[in-house]
Amino acid sequence: MSMNFKNFPMVSKVVFGRGSFTQLGEIMAPMRLNEHAPFIYLVDDVFENNSALIAKIPLLYSDQIIYISTEEEPKTSQVDQLVETIILGSSILPSGIIGIGGGSLLDLAKAVALMLTNNGSSEDYQGWDLIKNKGIYHVGIPTISGTGAEVSRTTILTGPTMKLGLNSDFTPFDQVILDPQLTEGVSKEQWFYTGMDCFIHCIESLNGEYINSFSKTYGETALELCKEVFLGSLNSEECQDKLMMASWHGGMSIAYSQVGVAHAMSYGMSFLLGTKHGIGNCIVFDHLKDFYPEGVKLFKEMKRKHDIHIPKGICSNLTDKEFDIMIDVAMSLEPLWENAIGKDWKTKITRPLLKDLYSKM
Ligand code: NAD
Ligand code: ZN
Repeated sequence: MSMNFKNFPMVSKVVFGRGSFTQLGEIMAPMRLNEHAPFIYLVDDVFENNSALIAKIPLLYSDQIIYISTEEEPKTSQVDQLVETIILGSSILPSGIIGIGGGSLLDLAKAVALMLTNNGSSEDYQGWDLIKNKGIYHVGIPTISGTGAEVSRTTILTGPTMKLGLNSDFTPFDQVILDPQLTEGVSKEQWFYTGMDCFIHCIESLNGEYINSFSKTYGETALELCKEVFLGSLNSEECQDKLMMASWHGGMSIAYSQVGVAHAMSYGMSFLLGTKHGIGNCIVFDHLKDFYPEGVKLFKEMKRKHDIHIPKGICSNLTDKEFDIMIDVAMSLEPLWENAIGKDWKTKITRPLLKDLYSKM
């Protein structure tokens, strides 16, 4: 690895605790610029009829809730649309953007906060360190655990030509509220898929070439927590608390290393078929025993214990051209392969190999 050590920005402030969501008003009050500059809440529409949660959002003056469907993962066009709506709705910039939901809502909140102060379309900023100006104050409140989007310096967006994040030092949240109680209503399947995103982050980080003591410390902690949550016998509160911390640590681990084969292939699949991140990772990871033997063994054990049936045959009717699209996207993610396989990955990862793997999924 070159001697170019990352100077990684972290979340500025974080609260953890069951019920900490009720502190939101108190936490945000000092950040209000003035009474004409609203706080805009981007909330997963799964909560639209959850009056207990909505009642705890401390709306004042012209503060606003915008409900967002997570049927599809965040898009650059969606970010641009939201930014336009917010700018047209107020004569001045908002005091802050608050994302309440899973990885989709956290990414949207980060992206909107950045695009309110950077000109043009969000698709112009997909990549590394293209964002010029600091975004507005942004707060992340996860309601499902696993992605690590609450700690990361990226916000993954699907654009017209690629699925790639706005990676920048301005991306991480200014404030995160970790209230495990908010994850109460998640379905078993979704809990598993998003939780496995964290598990896979750990396996890919710990087994990659980029591993170092910083990433290892976080990765090992997160992996232990995942084992307790998915293979142990914790009560549901412990499960919620520990998975939320696993997600945080898993995110910190990859922040200083990199993901690997499952993420590369899952991005390809998601780009072509719109498969969501958590489930896509599971579909792929199930077939990666040659790359991550120990991890895949544990994964299958977890799957069995929770009676999860990963969709099968989703690539069975694809054309050669479609396989090529998935393979192109997967292979374009060079750092992921370099981390997983090594500098000479191109000699080992061939198009026929990837096609063979995809065709089994
Ligand atoms: P998600 O945000 O799409 O949510 C998954 C589902 O769970 C949705 O249907 C949502 O409505 C539901 N849900 C969330 N909280 C709930 C609750 N408390 N009760 C009931 N239902 C609830 O999924 P996710 O897996 O958290 O995030 C996936 C997204 O995160 C993808 O877009 C992916 O690209 C992104 N991601 C980002 C990063 C990053 O570092 N920025 C990392 C990994 C993934
Ligand atoms: Zn992931």
